[in-house]
Amino acid sequence: MHGHENHPIPAPREPEDAAPAAAYGPCVLLKHGEVFLKGRNRHRFTERLHDNLRVALRGVGGSTWIKTAQNVTVLGGQVPRDALVERARRVPGFNTVEPAVRVPSTLEGISAAAADVLGEVAAGRRVRGFAVRVRRRDKRFPLTSSRMEAHLGSHVLGAVPGLHVDLTSPDVTLSVEIDRKETYLSWERLPGLSGLPVGASGRALVLLSGGYDSPVAAHRAMRRGLACDFVHFNGAPYTNPSSVYKAYALARELNRHQPPGELYVMALGTAQKQLAVAGAGRLQVVAQRRLMVRTASALAARTGAQALVTGDSLGQVASQTLANLAAVDEAAALPVLRPLIGWEKQEIIDEARSIGTAGISVLPDEDCCSLLAPPRVSTRARLPQLRSVERRLDLDEVVEALLGSAQVLRPGADGEEDPRDPAAGRCAAPV
Ligand code: ATP
Ligand code: MG
Repeated sequence: MHGHENHPIPAPREPEDAAPAAAYGPCVLLKHGEVFLKGRNRHRFTERLHDNLRVALRGVGGSTWIKTAQNVTVLGGQVPRDALVERARRVPGFNTVEPAVRVPSTLEGISAAAADVLGEVAAGRRVRGFAVRVRRRDKRFPLTSSRMEAHLGSHVLGAVPGLHVDLTSPDVTLSVEIDRKETYLSWERLPGLSGLPVGASGRALVLLSGGYDSPVAAHRAMRRGLACDFVHFNGAPYTNPSSVYKAYALARELNRHQPPGELYVMALGTAQKQLAVAGAGRLQVVAQRRLMVRTASALAARTGAQALVTGDSLGQVASQTLANLAAVDEAAALPVLRPLIGWEKQEIIDEARSIGTAGISVLPDEDCCSLLAPPRVSTRARLPQLRSVERRLDLDEVVEALLGSAQVLRPGADGEEDPRDPAAGRCAAPV
């Protein structure tokens, strides 16, 4: 297999400037999830989070810098702040993303910036009532937090006409975080993806179909810290490649949230025919699913994945009854994670819309599962019957053949690369 290491893809570094010395300027504050703020892993987690952030910033169009101020990551660069905000919100592990400005920690500097910020916010929206919340991380700053709040409040009242202080239901709350050298002022708190940094939980292989479910499952897995590669089975030579195009587009969309994973494509059609000829009958779909997880388990040994991920939801279709899921698990050499096990179909579709995969999943394709699907799928596949069908094939040989003919595609990440880069979205050598 080419181009594979058994560890997460190292984060390629873009030229990254050190944060310029304290100066007035736009930046973004990223607040880490609470989960990993405590404990011994914190340093390792923060480093991984920053590596992932650097990867997400690739191709953003200018140099960027990242620095840590206590429990906050500060992000800035020669790039419009909105672009930085958009990239940061893709990265699992940040709870909130706040557009901000930073100024040197002097009374005059902070006061002027507070008036500037609130003046601008008030000009852009119908804002009347405001509040100021100060957090003093450096206790050497001459004013206490509450005295600083009062000071900034009256300074803003004098400088920006039309505003009044409203501490109970302000239209805008200016948050001021005072560090030793720098102070950050923010006025908006956007939700991040939260969760854990991708890679912190290990590596997984996602069984990616062209449907709604598996991309949503992959998204959930990434948010729990799993770095994901993808495997897609198509029905070639009996189907056209439309499902492969969808899987490619889905993997590319999902890769926006992680150091890009790879997509393995395997042609299952011939093996599906063999199962049918072996008399799978109503067990055909479950027998195919077992073959998929068997093959995926063998592939996982090569990619370093410690688990498989599927989009199954209990009872959603006949192949997803408890008995059938158990029969599939029995054929897997690794834990099969099913993040959507308790989800309603509508919840899954809503989530697919919000993460941006629905528009791809809705496209028509020729799915390998409908090929040779029996009119009625058994809801209670029994292992002895499955095994007797499988005995008529040389399973080891079938799995080897599938691995041997697999294509490995590198979908990269949507928006990641310079559009002028001809190497974007490459097709690499076979496995
Ligand atoms: P999806 O919307 O993800 O296609 P589904 O509701 O259609 O799911 P099934 O077709 O029963 O459900 O598939 C269950 C799971 O098995 C999928 O979520 C996916 O993880 C895996 N799977 C199904 N077909 C394929 C395929 N062609 N290639 C890779 N994995 C597949
Ligand atoms: Mg499907």
